[in-house]
Amino acid sequence: MSTKRDYYEILGLERGADPAGIKRAYRKLALKFHPDNYKGDKAEGEVKFKELAEAYEVLSDPQKRQQYDQYGHEGLRGSGMHDFSSMGFSDIFSMFTDIFGGMGNPGRGHRRRRGLDLETEVGITLEEVASGCERELDFDRYDVCEMCDGSGAKPGSEPESCVTCGGYGQVQQQTQSIFGMSVRVVPCPDCNGRGKIIREKCPDCTGHGRMKIHRTLKVKIPAGIHEGQVIRVRNEGEPGEDGAQRGDLHVYIAIEPHPLLTRRGDDLICLAPVGFSTAALGGEIEVPTIEGPEMLDIPAGTQYGDVLRKKGKGLPQLDSKRVGDLLIQVHIDVPKRLTERQTELFEELATLDNEHITHRRKSFMEKLKDHFRR
Ligand SMILES: [Zn+2]
Ligand SMILES: [Zn+2]
Repeated sequence: MSTKRDYYEILGLERGADPAGIKRAYRKLALKFHPDNYKGDKAEGEVKFKELAEAYEVLSDPQKRQQYDQYGHEGLRGSGMHDFSSMGFSDIFSMFTDIFGGMGNPGRGHRRRRGLDLETEVGITLEEVASGCERELDFDRYDVCEMCDGSGAKPGSEPESCVTCGGYGQVQQQTQSIFGMSVRVVPCPDCNGRGKIIREKCPDCTGHGRMKIHRTLKVKIPAGIHEGQVIRVRNEGEPGEDGAQRGDLHVYIAIEPHPLLTRRGDDLICLAPVGFSTAALGGEIEVPTIEGPEMLDIPAGTQYGDVLRKKGKGLPQLDSKRVGDLLIQVHIDVPKRLTERQTELFEELATLDNEHITHRRKSFMEKLKDHFRR
């Protein structure tokens, strides 16, 4: 029988907690039960800490968490769990260096961070969505100083290795507590954890090793892209620490509205006014397409709201050969003001239509009566 406590309960979390919440809860409780801080019984603090470390190991790993959610403690048997019961505090801390930042083993050195990602937005037209395009981006970013190559030291001089920490960037700090002497690893106060000291500063970047540098960059925007999609340009973000990997540049796409065409997926829609007589007799009208105006056949007897289609005149689908259609929604244009001649003709038409219309109206009225009789 398992007498283990529920991992979520140990961390004080709900079952659906997100990864950031799990990390936060763990960090808070780990600091509470750390031997330097824990006020209660030492043995009890140690048990609590190990319990916490085990719960965190499981819940921070998506695969182990899923097994635990589904089968409980039994589900984790033989899944390569650490045996926390036989571990000392220092072992546990060395496993979680990324959680606590500086708490690693001395000698391992300073962790180099990847550079920050940058974001920008590019506005393109619907025509450019159809063809794909290239944009030149102009922006400033913090970059490695060219004068000192990022060292921060005046050209001709070199950064010196920090004497206090021997170049490791970390020092051990001893504290006397009621549990006896305890040792903690903290970032070196003399070099701020960098392991190096700059005596003569580079005049361009004033010793920071970085400065704002203008960058011009060409970005290819593929045909068929959608509003809000992001193009990730690898290694165009800020440089990483001490030669670590650069961040990325994220280019958000914004599509400018078109005066005549609306996008629906890969299809384009336009509203086309069709003359009263053209709709009745059939004919041709000019409609806008993404490549310019084109003629469209209007069949005789076209009704208001009918949708006509030009195949392959829509937008290309992203990363595919498929192309959408142009849908033309018919809007019958009834003349608001008539010339004398038009009035004459319409009146003549009305007389001719009369019989037919009267017949149609009669059947309409009968249907209406039928409906209310029910
Ligand atoms: Zn410099
Ligand atoms: Zn130092």
